[in-house]
Amino acid sequence: MDVVFVGAGPANLAAALHLKNEIKKHDELVDRGIKHTKKIGDLEIAIVEKGSFIGAHILSGAVMDPLALRELMPDFLDQGCPVDTVVTEDAAWYLTSTKKFTAPITPPPLRNKGKYIISLSKVCEWLGEKCEEAGINIFPEFPAAEVLYDDRDAVIGVRTGDKGIDKDGKKKANYEPGVDLLAKVTVLGEGSRGSLAKQLIARLGLDHGKDHQAYSLGVKELWEVSAGNFAEGMVVHTLGFPSDTQTYGGGWIYGMKNNVVSIGYVTGLDYVDPLIDPHAEFQRFKTHPEIAKILARGKMIKYGAKTINTGGYYTMPRLYADGVLLVGDSASMLNGQRIKGIHTAMKSGMLAAETIVGAFEHEDFSVRTLKHFEEKVNMSWIYDELYPVRNFHAAFQKGRWSALINTGLQFLTRGLAWGFMPKEHHVPGYERMQQLNGDRPRGGLGPSDHLATDRYQRVPFDKEITFDKVTDVFYGAVAHDEDQPSHLHVLDTEICATRCAEEYGNPCQRFCPAAVYEMEENSATGRRELKVNFSNCVHCKTCDIADPYQIINWVTPEGGGGPNYKGM
Ligand code: SF4
Repeated sequence: MDVVFVGAGPANLAAALHLKNEIKKHDELVDRGIKHTKKIGDLEIAIVEKGSFIGAHILSGAVMDPLALRELMPDFLDQGCPVDTVVTEDAAWYLTSTKKFTAPITPPPLRNKGKYIISLSKVCEWLGEKCEEAGINIFPEFPAAEVLYDDRDAVIGVRTGDKGIDKDGKKKANYEPGVDLLAKVTVLGEGSRGSLAKQLIARLGLDHGKDHQAYSLGVKELWEVSAGNFAEGMVVHTLGFPSDTQTYGGGWIYGMKNNVVSIGYVTGLDYVDPLIDPHAEFQRFKTHPEIAKILARGKMIKYGAKTINTGGYYTMPRLYADGVLLVGDSASMLNGQRIKGIHTAMKSGMLAAETIVGAFEHEDFSVRTLKHFEEKVNMSWIYDELYPVRNFHAAFQKGRWSALINTGLQFLTRGLAWGFMPKEHHVPGYERMQQLNGDRPRGGLGPSDHLATDRYQRVPFDKEITFDKVTDVFYGAVAHDEDQPSHLHVLDTEICATRCAEEYGNPCQRFCPAAVYEMEENSATGRRELKVNFSNCVHCKTCDIADPYQIINWVTPEGGGGPNYKGM
């Protein structure tokens, strides 16, 4: 291959399509004698994707700002882009445990009128078709398992995972070894906490001098609600209940066509209280009288969960190295204040494509040429949008009230950090988690008064409004062949049974939104030990991010396994 894109999300799909268009433009200019350089011609371009089809693992709220898509394809609506609904009304609600207060003026970052409510999975499926029509090779069910380097540490491609290995590591009848896809440029657009991006960033120190990334977990359901319960085109964002004031979090409700509602809740994975369960927070959110009213007599139809990068501009890793570029959520392109990242992801992909054209023009795939990608990002509207909100998430490290004051001040000063708030993410989120014995987390606020309560365990799952994790996983249509090695590598299970049980009460049982981790009594020893139900995994990556000992390593399972988010 000439170029390999890892992950078929909005960033890489836009990148691949734009690359085709830009090469065509470039070659036409050379033909017409306007550009005095060599033609690039047909490149072999591949997109590898771990899901069983394009869109299978794509999950977002989502309200899309069409800015980048319009640049990529000005007639995207005429070309059949499956937008669901145009936003006609938006509101910001502050929730107490029983009441709702509507902000008299919707804060500007949350104004969405004229933008599109979409299923990002559907939009990616459609973009995938456009890529195939343009002659781009798409390989679903091909998880990239490893980055390949030459002897100077330049990236030369990726190795895909083996197929047909049983749970004991032996080859099955359908065994197929992974393949080495060599490329002049590799683009990693794997989404939040990509497993290859994680390897690459650590190996080449691409996060050196940057803030620690901050992550949040979004848990989402699609509902069919009774006619008249929630207007099509209505977009609501909420703050307050059920989060405590130290925890970053908020909810959304988007009205789609045919009385379908997208509803979800985001919890920051830098929470202090180890008893927090983001899935349970979402279930509690739905029990609020104003939310339950919307869902009454409705039917839940789909479920999913995914992490997002909420750290912002200061947490962006170096976006290039020899032979490789990072785009989309893998490159921390999300605007946390607007809760939007599809447009910035797509634009980053398009700028990567323009950089790659330059690399082929000069036949130089080293940092000398690829560094222009970061310059292009900083010269584009991505910078104009992300730089003024560079301190947005960091402001929440001192709790909700100081964050709200700070956010207001930042809005007036184009993002200046104020003396009474932390300017940066000094520690990774998992280090803020407080031990059950009350020790202060290194970067946290320290002792929270609700610690050691069991309120998170006491969410009533009535199977009408609220659902337990196993039921929800069923609605995520999750499937993995169980006769394969677990893709969740717990590097030291002894810690789980001893230190973690005592210090944090095994938070993996709570932060995983798919009931993958369970502490179970070993009948022989009487000890509670870790059981990993890996086949439930929805690939959200929370465990890789939030584990306080950092002993969980998420690697790609056999191709095609995971959730099915078609239409989500
Ligand atoms: Fe998410 Fe990890 Fe649970 Fe899988 S096992 S659903 S990646 S937290």
